[in-house]
Amino acid sequence: MSVAQNIDAVRERIEAAARRCGRHSREIALMGVTKTQPANSIIEAYQAGLRLFGENRVLEFSGKTAAVHELPGAEWRLIGHLQSNKVVKAARLFQGVDSLESLRTAEKLNDAAASAGKRLPVLIEVNLGGEASKTGVSVPSADFEELMRAARRLAALEFQGLMTVPPYTADAEGARPFFRALRQIRDEVASRDLPSVGLETLSMGMSHDFEVAIEEGSTCVRVGTAIFGERPRL
Ligand SMILES: *Cc1c(COP(=O)(O)O)cnc(C)c1O
Repeated sequence: MSVAQNIDAVRERIEAAARRCGRHSREIALMGVTKTQPANSIIEAYQAGLRLFGENRVLEFSGKTAAVHELPGAEWRLIGHLQSNKVVKAARLFQGVDSLESLRTAEKLNDAAASAGKRLPVLIEVNLGGEASKTGVSVPSADFEELMRAARRLAALEFQGLMTVPPYTADAEGARPFFRALRQIRDEVASRDLPSVGLETLSMGMSHDFEVAIEEGSTCVRVGTAIFGERPRL
């Protein structure tokens, strides 16, 4: 199967999952996760109509930008851990950061975005699996509350919602309680009506569980393997 055929197949599955739960597939963005994938696969996906891409590492992506910067309309978002010494580069290279997990990084990213003259869309990555998932901020926690409070003064960041990577379970159904929990956190925060925190986006669901995530309210599925095949080892 080619990348283009895989994208068609994933789009059909998104469509079917949305229909099953009475949603419209227009509400669900498809992000192609391109970590470890070479530029030619990315260009193939672009030519098949994909416009939203996720990369895990700032340096890996910076090595690809020469090959992909001429794809008009393509949107690149960071979905992996952001180290504080990569914040300036990340603010310059990406159109969004979906893996914000601390106030410290948020403050640095805010300064870097302001210096780069842009307002950067961000998602807060929520850790729902405790020890089993090592990234993201726990909820409830003082760190999460601190981030919510800071959103107002971090004017160069546009808070758009939440992201999560649940602990791996062989069966997609195993992820359902985590997806449901993320949605409940979103609804709880939304009920507080904080003016500077937008919460429309729920980024959840990967190749093996995105249909379950759609049933639980996902608005962005992050799909790597089902589009590009098994990742080449770096
Ligand atoms: C790798 C990765 C994905 C995609 O995983 P697949 O199982 O290949 O679809 C999605 N989200 C994040 C944060 C990832 O690191």
